[in-house]
This record gives sequence, C-alpha cells and structure tokens, in this order.
Amino acid sequence: VSIIKIMATEGVEIEMKTEEISFTADISQLMNLIINSFYSKKEIFLRELLSNASDALEKIRHQSLLDKNVLEGDDNLNVQVKIDKDAKTLTIRDNGVGMTRDDLINCLGTIAKSGTKSFIENLGNSKDVETIGQFGVGFYSSYLVADRVKVVTKHNDDKEYIWESNSDKNFSLVVNNSPTLTRGTEITLYIKEDEVKYLETNTVKDIIKKYTEFINYPIQFWETREVDEEVDEQPDEQPDEQTDEQTDEQTDEPFIEDVKEEEKEEPKVTKKLSKKEVSEWVQINDEKPIWTLKPEDVKEEQYISFYKKISGDYNEPLTQKHFHTEGQLECNCLLYIPEKQPFDMFETDRKKNNIKLYVKKVFIMDDCDELLPEWLRFIKGVVDSNDIPLNVSREILQQNKIMKQIKNVIVKKIIELITELSDDEEKYAKFYDNYSKMLKLGVHEDSKNRDKLIELLRFYTLNDENKLITLKEYVENMKEEQTSIYYICGDNKEILSKSPLIEKIRKEGYNVLYFTDTIDEYMVQNLKEYNEKKLVDVSKDGIKFDEDNLKKLQENNKDFIKFVKDTLGDKVTEVKISDRLQDTPCVLVTAEYGWTANMERIMKAQALRNNQMDNFMTSKKIMELNMEHIIITTLKEKSVIAEEKTATLDVIKLLYDNALLASGFALEDAIEYSKKVNKMIEIGFCDE
Ligand code: ADP
Repeated sequence: VSIIKIMATEGVEIEMKTEEISFTADISQLMNLIINSFYSKKEIFLRELLSNASDALEKIRHQSLLDKNVLEGDDNLNVQVKIDKDAKTLTIRDNGVGMTRDDLINCLGTIAKSGTKSFIENLGNSKDVETIGQFGVGFYSSYLVADRVKVVTKHNDDKEYIWESNSDKNFSLVVNNSPTLTRGTEITLYIKEDEVKYLETNTVKDIIKKYTEFINYPIQFWETREVDEEVDEQPDEQPDEQTDEQTDEQTDEPFIEDVKEEEKEEPKVTKKLSKKEVSEWVQINDEKPIWTLKPEDVKEEQYISFYKKISGDYNEPLTQKHFHTEGQLECNCLLYIPEKQPFDMFETDRKKNNIKLYVKKVFIMDDCDELLPEWLRFIKGVVDSNDIPLNVSREILQQNKIMKQIKNVIVKKIIELITELSDDEEKYAKFYDNYSKMLKLGVHEDSKNRDKLIELLRFYTLNDENKLITLKEYVENMKEEQTSIYYICGDNKEILSKSPLIEKIRKEGYNVLYFTDTIDEYMVQNLKEYNEKKLVDVSKDGIKFDEDNLKKLQENNKDFIKFVKDTLGDKVTEVKISDRLQDTPCVLVTAEYGWTANMERIMKAQALRNNQMDNFMTSKKIMELNMEHIIITTLKEKSVIAEEKTATLDVIKLLYDNALLASGFALEDAIEYSKKVNKMIEIGFCDE
C-alpha cells in the first residue's frame, strides 16, 4: 500500500491510499471459457489425458535413471484405458510419477499452472526428457465430456489421495484409506448423458489410435470380445430315446443295425461351438514414430511400409525426404512423393489430409492447409514440431507464425528433393508425367521459388518431338543470332508441329518449345524471361526476321493492305505483311497482350467463366500476309481490276476463315464457311 497526494479542486492537498487488489474470477465461468474456447473437438480430451499420462511416465523414467528404486513394485510403465458402460465411466490409469497432495492443489487445483513445465524448468538443460504438457489447461478438457472427474493418485513420497470435482468452484481432496495404486494416477471421467459415445469401445479405440499411435509408452485398452469356444455337448436324453425307438423299428434291417452298433460304441459326448466373452488388455499404439529417428538409422523398407500405413496407398512412394531442423525451428519431417497422383487431386472439395501434424509424437491434425502451398498438395507425410503449442485451438494454430516457418522449410526441402530426383532420368520421367502441372502451378504462384522451379520444367520441342528438354538445354543450343526463346501453345505437339506460324522459324533452324498443357498459358504469364532471354509466343504479333525488308514491303503494298483491311472490317484490328510464313498465304496472330488462340479456346471451355473479359481480351486479331505466296500475289493483282471485285472479296473472306482454323481459333460461322468451300469446289472441280 502506498500513499499518494492529490490536489483537490479547491487547492487542498488530500492523501489517498492505493491498494493492490488481486483479480478474482468466477471459476466455473472461467473454466467454461477455457474448455469451450480452447478445444474445437471434444474428442481431444483423450489426447490431453493420454499426453499427461505419458508425461507422468516420462518423469518417473527420468527419476529412475538416477535411482532405480523409484520404480519398485511396478516397473512395467504403461497407460491403461477402461470403459465401464454400467457405471458410465471412462478410466485412464498410468503408473507414472503420480501427484503429491501439494501437486494436486498446485497443478489440478490451479488453472493454467503446468507442473510439467516447472518440472522441465527445474531440470535445466537436460535434453533426455520428452514431455508434452506446457500450458496447464489440458486436464480440464475432461469436462468437455464428463460432468464429474475423480483423480486417485499416489506419489512415491506421499500417501494415496482422491481428488474430485465437477468443474464448479470447488474440488474435494481426501486421503484414500483403502489405497489401490502402487504408484501413478487413475482418472475416472463420469461421462455426460449426451456424450455416451465416449463409452463405445470402437470410438474410444479409434481416438486413442488417432492421437497417440506414436507415443513412447504402451497404451492398453481393456477390450471385451466374443470368442468361439469348443465346449463338450452334454448327452441329450431326448434324442437317445428316439434312437432307441428307431433301432426298435429297424431291427429287421441288418445294415442299419450294424451302423447303430458301431455308433453305440463311440462315446456319446460331442464338441460344439459356443460364444464366450473374454476381456484382455490390448495394446493400441504399436507403431514406431520413425520420423524421430536419425535418417541413417531407418531402412528403406521401413520408409516404404510407414508410407503405406499413413497414406493408405498400396503403391510404394516414388521417393521421400527425411530431415530434422534445429535452431530457430525444431522439427522432424518425413515427406513422401507418391508414385501416382491421386485421381481426385484437382477436385476442390477433396479432403486435404496429406500432411499429418504431430507435436512431440501426439497427433494434432491432418487437414492443415497452412503447411503446404496449393502446388504441393500431392506431398504426403508427417511433420512433428516441438515448437507448436499443443493446447490451442486449430484456428489459433493455423495463424501461428511457426506454421509459416514450417511451410517454408517444407517447400525448400521438397524442391531440393525434386531437384535430386531430376538426376535420375527414369524416376524423374515418372515424376514429371504425374506432377508437371503442379510444378507449373508452382512457377505461376510461388514467386520466391520460381527460379528454382523453372529449372525443373521440361518441354517437347520442334527439333525433337519425343524428347523432353530443359530451358537450360534450349538456351545452350540456341543459334548465335537468336535472341529469344520461342514457344507455341496448343492442344498437342502433332498439331503444333504443322502450324503455319512456325514455318519460317523451322527453316531458319530455330527450335520452338511446345506448350501443350492448359496451365502453360497461365504459367508463362509469370515466366517472361529465362537467362535474360525473352520468351516469345510465335502465335503473337511481333515475330520478324528481316525488319528492313518488311518495312519496304509494307510501304509498297499500302493500298493492297488497306483493301484487305476494309474487306474484313472489324474482324481484324490490323493487316500486315509478314516474313514468318513459308507455304501459307496468311495467318491470324494476336496482339502481344491479348489472349492467344489457345487461351481463347481454354477460356471458352470454362463453363462458369465470367464473359465480361471476352470483348476486352478476344478479337484482337492481326492478319499477316505472305507476299511471296501465289494466292496473295494473285489477290493483289486482281484487287485493282473492277470485274474481279466480287471474287476477290469472297477470296479474302475465305482466307480469313481458313486462317482462323489454321491458327487455332474457332470459326465464327461454320455454315457460311462450308457453303463458300462448296462453291469453290464447284468452280474449280465441276465442268460447266
Ligand atoms: P499440462 O499437461 O499442459 O501441464 P494439464 O492441465 O493437463 O496441463 O495438467 C496440469 C498438471 O497436472 C501437469 O503439468 C502435471 O503436473 C499434473 N498432472 C496431470 N495429469 C497427471 C498425471 N496423470 N500424472 C501426474 N501428474 C499429472
């Protein structure tokens, strides 16, 4: 208490006492808040209680390293879970360190106080203990499913106590006069009326398996099953009499009589199967958390069988990466690339359960969007980090900055893994066949790693339609005077190889990359350059070989160009002379920033597309004329002859439609086009 002086309004100095007053809390309200806001899934109470039990075992194990006697009377460390349907209780019992009277008051009686955390702090730098608890609230999650909890506990240094509370203001504490435990803790949950599913054997077993499959200590479940048992069948009075009767009736049939004689010699007692209930402790967590081992201590078969278990995939993984990070972020990761991509990889409502997140071997969740970017959603595996807070809700966890750090590490390591894989041609071909689209999505989305991802891309090319090459190889083999990397987009390489747009490029001996995946068009929007070489779409405006000559041609054909443009009107934005063509009279290309023919086709195929963009992006077609082609030169000659006018107009329109088709656009009016072609056939083919 301190005294301070305050000047009152009249200028009189008055003295006031400042008091330090502790906060009070409505405990039952607070408890309610903690329980219901920390945990979004009720089943988590089991994870919390089993983690506590495992911590208690870890503590006694640690003590036993210094003094073996602490385990006296019960050295088989384990956790046992039992359901009593009649009493509506679920009991979790461990033979760990137990709690003294003070522990019960300090740990279970004080909200947000973690005995485990203080235990670790008292150990100093000791690294050989692996405990889980740290917040001091996990225990209270029992009240998510129970309206009353009883804790019986025995610590080596104290008597056995019974602690009991219904999560109201109070708890009761009493020495157990008829002790039952050698050492450890037994927690009994009196399950709420509406949570009786936690009294179902399968439900409870599944939850235990899900969360604690990899915990260090055996977790046993008291299981009652029906088994078939062979029992002696009691000789039945009735049938015997009947047999006698039958025998009497059939006495004059010697054969049957013989048989009967024989039967009579055999003992009457036979065996029959009957159902019997047996109860026994069944161990639930028999898996080894191999991700916590050193990579050099894990055999390839172990990796494979572990993969099959966690992924549900019958096939072996293509490859895996197992690593530990230390320092700023401590985590153990085991990540796999499946051999084949899941058939539903591109479905938007697909359950994302590829990465299982563990904290100190305790399962946290498996549908964690934050750990993988979209383009790596095919990766499967386990991430275990000691730095993630276990006792917070998944919503809070997902915003945790550690999750972002882990994600960065995963992305970096997976890129490393894919890069390593690319040295093995056969395996990489398999990988690329399955996941090239995902890599391209990565190039599109991940600006930070784009440079590394670009190196992993492979393309078929004009020079060799059957061999995939890297951008690096393309550049290394570029001709000296070639300044750009050429590519062409389309449905498949067979069609692309016949495109009029690459006629001259082919003749000049330049190579062209084939972009045949839909995603290529998107990807290339973020891939403008490679090694300071511009990527140039050959279906776009701006491909020139001899600029001076082109200028001259343009100048000399001004009137003809205007004539063609006037004939086509709004169908094209411009008509130009081109030197990219060889055997084709004309092509349609698009402006550098509009959609290509391929993109237009892709966009039109999207059923739910917003077509507001259409006018803006489409119809910016430029017609390029090949002044060396006989059709164009004839057209030019005839365009100035009045009698030929109708014919030339028809030919220009037909050339336009033809160019639409050859350049990969859709015909605007197919019926009109076919009529024109028919007419041409008539003129050229049929006798008058
Ligand atoms: P946390 O596990 O995060 O520390 P809890 O609320 O779950 O928080 O538990 C509070 C404390 O109670 C623990 O730190 C531990 O000291 C003690 N405790 C809980 N369960 C057990 C148990 N089964 N055996 C021994 N001590 C326990």
